[in-house]
Amino acid sequence: MTAIKVGIIGAGSAAFSLRLVSDLCKTKGLSGSLVSLMDIDKDRLNAVHMLAKKFAEEFGADLRFETTTNVEDPIKDSSFVVNTALVGGHSYFEQVRNISEKHGYYRGIDSQEFNMVSDYYTISNFNQLKFMHDVAKAIERISPKAWLLQAANPVFELTNLITRTVPINMVGICHGHHGVDQIIEKLGLDTEKVEWQVAGVNHGIWLTKFMYEGKDAYPLIDELLEKEVKNFKPTNPFDDQISLVAKDMYEFYGKMPIGDTVRNGSWKYHYNLETKKKWFGEPWGGVDSELGWKWYQDRQAEIALAMQKVAKYFQENKNAKLLSKESFNEIISQTKNDVKEEFTKEIYNLLDPERKSGEQHILLANALLNNEKVDLVLNLPNNGTIPGIPDDVAVEIPVYADKDGIHRYKIDPALPERITKMYLYPRIMRMEWALEAFLTGDRKVLEEFLIRDPRTESYDQVVKVIDEILALPGNEEMRKHYSKK
Ligand code: NAD
Repeated sequence: MTAIKVGIIGAGSAAFSLRLVSDLCKTKGLSGSLVSLMDIDKDRLNAVHMLAKKFAEEFGADLRFETTTNVEDPIKDSSFVVNTALVGGHSYFEQVRNISEKHGYYRGIDSQEFNMVSDYYTISNFNQLKFMHDVAKAIERISPKAWLLQAANPVFELTNLITRTVPINMVGICHGHHGVDQIIEKLGLDTEKVEWQVAGVNHGIWLTKFMYEGKDAYPLIDELLEKEVKNFKPTNPFDDQISLVAKDMYEFYGKMPIGDTVRNGSWKYHYNLETKKKWFGEPWGGVDSELGWKWYQDRQAEIALAMQKVAKYFQENKNAKLLSKESFNEIISQTKNDVKEEFTKEIYNLLDPERKSGEQHILLANALLNNEKVDLVLNLPNNGTIPGIPDDVAVEIPVYADKDGIHRYKIDPALPERITKMYLYPRIMRMEWALEAFLTGDRKVLEEFLIRDPRTESYDQVVKVIDEILALPGNEEMRKHYSKK
């Protein structure tokens, strides 16, 4: 048993923190650990703290918690630091998007070929990149042996930035590969008998291997797509793993796109709302359309409110138990029905002792410290795993972890060359441009990004949109950074 300190930065991201706490409660080998919850928003922080304590109590888990608004506290003496903060919050993204759209950039300047996810900003996200880089440097200074588990986006750019410039232990972690579970579930297969691999870069991963009972099971996916896609009607904006767009990408690239990769196709699927609806289905046109993203934002706000209500209830009723679903539903009775259902399901899944949350952070910690070998999908430098990709580019690949560290599996069969040449290279190029801009502070690089954007019609348009984003309140440091000569 190894009692450690785990720091969570941006811990007010409630659903995420509770998942980690629930996994910790179920991991005997990390019993006695201290969880340091850090956020700049005290209300969110207190709500998460209240619920985290409640979870530990219900499990009878030996965990301690501390809360702090000082970013160095979750780093000091920690073995693992999970960073899930979002500097400027979602409202900053909306401001940038509104300015961009006024200047002719539908869904914002940061929506780029193979990077259409609406909160994955790389061009205008200086404050986020700077904060994450600073946290990595603080780890090097204060806790040089600690692992940084980078959960906040943009995971691809941040994993590259940090692994290349700060000599610490770090990996980028995303849960996007669970798209494979959706395929397995839709096919009604026994998970234990499925063997699969995904490979690519974060939010750009492809199902390279899919075997059932030792035989190639891709023909089952072909049949499923044929059947399901004819009258495709998504149940929610995220319902796209088996969709017209996934089928079209599969047919062009030769392998199934997995998880957020389906959201990250070329402009073919994203020109405008009408195009998005055609490919991602009515009524939303996928989660990254104006309608789908509003659906998501409204839902997140409802969930945050429900979380506050639950926390307040337990604050006022110290001896109350989370265990009864009826009393739980009573506490969040004002929450919209479908959100209430999903929220209750999530909480009760997290309370199920037989089930882990699906996040990989605690599994990785337990494998490294207690030698409980585990298969994971992580972001780390390629080092020859995907042929044709430079060693220092962070790829998202299947690995296993144990007391000796993280070990890469061979990708077999290999990724089709078309994916490498037509999807990964252009995506990697944009990551490199984003880092070139960030590391040099050269505004001309930001401009060049947009000069090469198919939505740009004049240089004047580029200058105006960048000027207006740099002039936003909160972007003072970014403005200064990009005025370097
Ligand atoms: P959110 O805004 O709901 O939560 C982020 C938290 O960060 C907030 O509580 C906020 O107060 C806090 N924060 C902001 N500035 C901070 C600072 N300087 N120091 C400490 N905390 C600070 O955002 P969210 O929707 O929960 O998303 C968080 C991040 O995680 C985003 O980048 C998102 O894209 C990413 N994400 C990653 C995955 C993954 O699998 N890797 C999945 C979902 C979301």
